[in-house]
Amino acid sequence: MTEPTHTHAWQARQDEVRLGCVAGFPVGMNWSVLVIAWLLTWSLATGGLPHGAPGHAAGTYWAAGAVAAVVFLASLLAHELAHSVVARRSGIEVTGITLWLFGGVASLSREPETPAADLRIAAAGPGASLALAGLFGVGSLAVEATSAPHILASVTGWLAGVNLMLGLFNLIPGAPLDGGRVLRAIVWRLRGDRHQAALIATSAGAVVGYGLIGLGLTQFLVAGGIGGLWFVFIGWFLLNAARAEKAHERIRHALTGVKMSDAMTPATSVIPAWLAVGDAIERHALTDRIDVWPVEGFDGRIAGVVTIDGLRAVPVDERTATQVSAITIPADALVQVPLTSTVIELLGRADSVVDRPVLVSDGDRVVGIVTGDDLERVAGRRLGATRSHH
Ligand SMILES: [Zn+2]
Repeated sequence: MTEPTHTHAWQARQDEVRLGCVAGFPVGMNWSVLVIAWLLTWSLATGGLPHGAPGHAAGTYWAAGAVAAVVFLASLLAHELAHSVVARRSGIEVTGITLWLFGGVASLSREPETPAADLRIAAAGPGASLALAGLFGVGSLAVEATSAPHILASVTGWLAGVNLMLGLFNLIPGAPLDGGRVLRAIVWRLRGDRHQAALIATSAGAVVGYGLIGLGLTQFLVAGGIGGLWFVFIGWFLLNAARAEKAHERIRHALTGVKMSDAMTPATSVIPAWLAVGDAIERHALTDRIDVWPVEGFDGRIAGVVTIDGLRAVPVDERTATQVSAITIPADALVQVPLTSTVIELLGRADSVVDRPVLVSDGDRVVGIVTGDDLERVAGRRLGATRSHH
């Protein structure tokens, strides 16, 4: 449904089930999808289908409802695949597709570089949904013209309807909806300023969120029923997503051009792997003004890093007997970037910085460490600096 920032992608990844690869893209599913599939099957089997095509056995309705729900999920996947294929053609790697409660998420490894690519990638998803709506619509009419059971036409007709809604809803011009990206691409093209365009698109997203909440509350108060609350729920979700994206955009903008050497904590103090945790705390944690250290391995190379939280987590009475090596995060579990790279390049990687420090190397020597805190500090400083200039 949306093309989130990297942060969203990380959040989505934590509780997902891998389904396999489609067209070379890893596809995963959040557990909430099963709830949606069940709700759709249930509402079709007990309401929509018996109403549209009476006279079948209950088992037939349940089977047809389940098939319709699965094909709907496949339609969601087709929507995300359309975004992903177009992104890949624009030279942007797609790290994965996740289906979840509000549709799907295709995680792009970086932002499009031109308004045209931004527009193409954004429009591809709703385009696919609308094309599917057309196909199912024509299919439904064709089935109806034959002597096939009416329930078949009901299912294809329903699939046409939900794909139409999916396509149109996503075209509402507010980020993070696809329509918001379309808006961003257009403003970006017209004004030549991507950052400003992104801020406008996320503001529009917040307006859409408030609008849905207002609409839902009105419907709930006037007509009663649970339908209005669903709008409130979606509106609230959109509002939060738009705000998060705006915050992310500000940070991204603030970090543009920042070199790794400006963001990292230089590896001036190294803790040997064989040091007792108690000694490490005394000699380093209490005196060095940093909270993550490279750990020198038994072979003299950097074996990984240890954090101040890691040191403190060792119970006081075990600190003498525990070596730092026991709580070292091994180097091969960490992302390593060259000193000459930029922070934005790091943010483009799907597997970095959120919960693990990143090693910065000059040749094969580790010269520094970058943590999420470091990036926040740099971004905060630069945001503060830009604010005071205006
Ligand atoms: Zn989409």
